[in-house]
Amino acid sequence: MNNCIFCKIANKKLPSDIIYEDDKVVAFNDVNPQSPIHFLVIPKEHISSANHLNEENVSIVSHIFLVINKLVKERGLGKKGYRIINNCGELGGQTVNHIHFHVLSGRQLKWPPG
Ligand code: 5GP
Ligand code: ZN
Repeated sequence: MNNCIFCKIANKKLPSDIIYEDDKVVAFNDVNPQSPIHFLVIPKEHISSANHLNEENVSIVSHIFLVINKLVKERGLGKKGYRIINNCGELGGQTVNHIHFHVLSGRQLKWPPG
C-alpha cells in the first residue's frame, strides 16, 4: 500500500535491520527499542490491524507465531521468556496501521502495561 512505512520496509524501499524474511513475513528490529530485544514481525501483505483479519487472511497470524517461536529460540529466550504484543487502534496505542507483532525481552517486563 502506498505511504505505508511497513509496506515500504517489506518492499525494501525503506531501510531496516531485517532479522528474518520469508515469502510471507518480514521481522526487523524496532527503531525505538523498549527493551534490549525488541523486534517486529509483519506480514508482507498489507493488513491494517487486527480488526482487518478475516477467514481469508487470518492464517498469517499462526505463521507469525511460528516465526516468533523460531526467532526467540535462536536467541535463547524460549525458557527465559518474552512478550508478544499487538496494539490495535487508537486506544490500543497503534501508531503504524499495518498489523505487526512486537516481541520484547532481555529485561523483566512489568504488568500491567501503561
Ligand atoms: P505500534 O505503536 O503501532 O504498536 O508500534 C509501531 C512500532 O514501529 C514502534 O515501536 C516504532 O518504534 C516502530 N517503528 C516506527 N517506524 C519505524 C521504522 O521506520 N523502522 C523501524 N524499524 N521501526 C519503526
Ligand atoms: Zn502496509
